[in-house]
Amino acid sequence: MTRSIESVAVIGAGTMGAGIAAASAAAGCRVLILDMNQETVESALQQVDEENRHLVTAGLVDTDLEAVSEYDWICEAVVEDLAVKRDLFSRLEEIRKDGSVISSNTSGIPLRQISEGMPERFRSDVAITHFFNPVKVMRLFELVPGENTDQEVISAFRDFGTDRLGKGVVHAKDTVNFIGNRIGCFFMLSGLHLAKPHLVEGMNQETVDAVLGAPVGLPPTGLYGLIDLIGLDVMELVGKNLAVNLPEADIGQEFTSFPSTEQQMHDRGQLGRKVGGGFYRQSKTADGERRKESFDLINEEWRDAQEAQLGGIPVELGEVVFHDSPQGELAWKVFGGTLRYAAALVPEIADDVFNIDNAIRWGFNWVHGPFEMMDHLGPRRIIDRIRAEEAELPSMLQVLNEAGVESFYRNEGSEYLGMDGDYHSADRSAD
Ligand code: NAD
Repeated sequence: MTRSIESVAVIGAGTMGAGIAAASAAAGCRVLILDMNQETVESALQQVDEENRHLVTAGLVDTDLEAVSEYDWICEAVVEDLAVKRDLFSRLEEIRKDGSVISSNTSGIPLRQISEGMPERFRSDVAITHFFNPVKVMRLFELVPGENTDQEVISAFRDFGTDRLGKGVVHAKDTVNFIGNRIGCFFMLSGLHLAKPHLVEGMNQETVDAVLGAPVGLPPTGLYGLIDLIGLDVMELVGKNLAVNLPEADIGQEFTSFPSTEQQMHDRGQLGRKVGGGFYRQSKTADGERRKESFDLINEEWRDAQEAQLGGIPVELGEVVFHDSPQGELAWKVFGGTLRYAAALVPEIADDVFNIDNAIRWGFNWVHGPFEMMDHLGPRRIIDRIRAEEAELPSMLQVLNEAGVESFYRNEGSEYLGMDGDYHSADRSAD
């Protein structure tokens, strides 16, 4: 059955639901937005651009759920709780019309757990549609089919995401944290552990963030600044979820808990920007001047912000990874480690390098995705370095090595290297 999405019912009007509703209305769709809480619904309505408000109907799940029967796509964006989501989906399944499609915006609950024991119609019509926050700004839209999802349903979501919402659609698999957050959170959680010895040896946090920013093609928040932005509370929960759901042999298992200082920061509520301070804070002095401070992770006290020490590292993008210096070691271990991790995750989390690169560029604003970055640096240099450390080559580097080729992309990125060792056409229309 061909499906087409012209109208959208969003259940859960919090941060994400409000964003998805506003984006759908901006795309000219009829939109229904429901929550348990009247105030939340009203504030979600305020986020819809005024010229589109006539397209939106708002209501409460308790009294207005029946209205979903008039919508093509039912998008669940309620709290991240399996029991709550399953209960809601059971109710929605009885109401929604034949031919409609249904999805969850969960960031971490496997679709197979949501679908378990659900009717066949539900299992063929459901997917995960994972947007990034803020929905209006972030390009990435991860699309995850379940074991029984119809190809027509996936095509409908893909076309709607691309053509109507203007998102960059990435095809992910039903594995923990999908693509963007699997790799992005590995960078952050492994970074907290691997940067520590450098801090002990006297490198300051400002240097860690500066090395793990522009020199490797990442946003200026680097490592600690990024966790400050996201919140230590969110990262702690992500770590706990990873500990349960990562495969046992995954190297990410080593990094699912915080180092002790960061755990103590979390426990006393020093969570990041949203509470006025985490690794960094800003205040005003008595004479009105801005004061920037850093939380020293070795002495465990606040101090004035210091200059980053980048002296002598190469200016060419990414080259710091091969630089013989403490900064170079840090870049190799944390950033290089993340590249290696990504190279080990095909085909586990995505069928190919292209979907992984798109997810990381669109979801984390890296200049290059991991495989594009390895091409930029030269995959052979990375292979040599890994071999010099007597470590195992991750799966995609092994494929490249055995295929006897020099890069993950060729013909200006129009073809990517597949698991089969051959190049395949990359659809760049969403770039
Ligand atoms: P939120 O807390 O801002 O909003 C959740 C909303 O769900 C609240 O308004 C709450 O009143 C409502 N709700 C709870 N139970 C309900 C029910 N049974 N029926 C109707 N409404 C109900 O949360 P959020 O950040 O918008 O997250 C929503 C979903 O999106 C979660 O699954 C989350 O993991 C996922 N997600 C969040 C982000 C993010 O950065 N915030 C990013 C991607 C995905």
